[in-house]
Amino acid sequence: MTGKKVTMKTIEISLPDIYQLAYDCLRQAGANHDNADAVADTVMRAERDGSVSHGLFRIPGYLATLKSGKVNGNANPQPEQVTPAFIRCHGENGHAPLAINRSIEMLANSAKICGVAALSLTHSHHFAALWPETEALAERGVVGFACVSYTPMVAPAGGTEALFGTNPISFAWPRLNQPPLVFDMATAAMAMGEVQIAARDNHSVPLGTGLGPNGELTEDPKEILKGVLLPFGGHKGSAISMMVELMAGPMVGEGFSFEAAASDNGDGGPPQGGEFILAISPQIMGGDNWAEHAEKLFSKLESYEGIRLPGQRRHKMRNDTGPRAVNSELLNKLRGILTAFGGKGFRVVLNTFNRVQFVSYAHDFTAIDRALLKVIGDCELIVDHRSDFQALR
Ligand code: NDP
Repeated sequence: MTGKKVTMKTIEISLPDIYQLAYDCLRQAGANHDNADAVADTVMRAERDGSVSHGLFRIPGYLATLKSGKVNGNANPQPEQVTPAFIRCHGENGHAPLAINRSIEMLANSAKICGVAALSLTHSHHFAALWPETEALAERGVVGFACVSYTPMVAPAGGTEALFGTNPISFAWPRLNQPPLVFDMATAAMAMGEVQIAARDNHSVPLGTGLGPNGELTEDPKEILKGVLLPFGGHKGSAISMMVELMAGPMVGEGFSFEAAASDNGDGGPPQGGEFILAISPQIMGGDNWAEHAEKLFSKLESYEGIRLPGQRRHKMRNDTGPRAVNSELLNKLRGILTAFGGKGFRVVLNTFNRVQFVSYAHDFTAIDRALLKVIGDCELIVDHRSDFQALR
């Protein structure tokens, strides 16, 4: 492992185990395989890229929404090609990753045919970073833009009361023989997840991040959690946040942040909302030289001392396939959830020539019996009871 400081408060955990822990927690809370897999993969990739505020940190919120029944863990979103350049995906009140995964290819293909294509995702619950969707578009050769609103946490410039969500925007540009150029940022001075992590870890935040409950600027994240966040860049960020409210709200047929909050059940997870995603073909718009031409700007930027391109930190982290240091309290909490679940759910693992592979997840013995019947030859089936480990031969 390189470049990561492991403190007393963290435990190292491998990327496959991060995925598995997230997947098992989600399955235990009632999500089916497709939904749990899509969310767990998003969570694992966030931890992999150092986007820790969208990694395992989000799992308790995801679980709360499944347990309260607000989110449908069996959502089966099907993107619909409404016009050659417009795709609509009704999220069936599921978490957003499955709907996004199923829509991205269609969106990129539409942009490659029409030059520009848009996706409106509605009736979904977005609790993640936006770079997975914009980067996926740029990996398919088109420029991506995405925005999503949330629940009021940010005071418009000049105000002291929350009206806007932290309303992130992301942009991705395909590059020659390199990962896409991506930026992904809250339009709040700081994302709420980052403020929560700073509060948890007793770090101060820069002045201008938010106001305490008395409306005064403060560096104390715990005070900001009782007050409001501020938009980045004063009235300019405030205007962009307002744009996101409109684009991820009425423009796609969904509500504003304040409307989402009004209808939310307050379970601590993301409210229902919409996402707007745009894909543009630079090949159709700009002609053959677009990629080479863009590289000139990137080389120029990188020639200045002290400047790096957005997304580079994540891509550097991604090259490290070693374990990640995860907050120990969080990890113990998630493992505790699974242990408490005990006899009600089982991981069915196949041990083939000493190579243990995850096979399936079962909620009851009947499903395990069915899995047992599939075991052939020299394989050994192990049923992992969380706290009690039992081997069946
Ligand atoms: P940051 O301020 O950490 O980073 C914003 C962008 O700036 C990133 O693309 C980052 O690239 C880039 N960047 C950071 N430092 C530099 C630098 N010195 N030079 C050049 N580029 C730099 O992100 P935020 O805290 O604003 O947002 C964090 C995440 O929270 C985002 O992924 C966002 O989508 C998510 N979010 C999700 C919400 C939701 O409702 N789903 C709500 C709000 C936020 P790099 O990653 O390489 O550092």
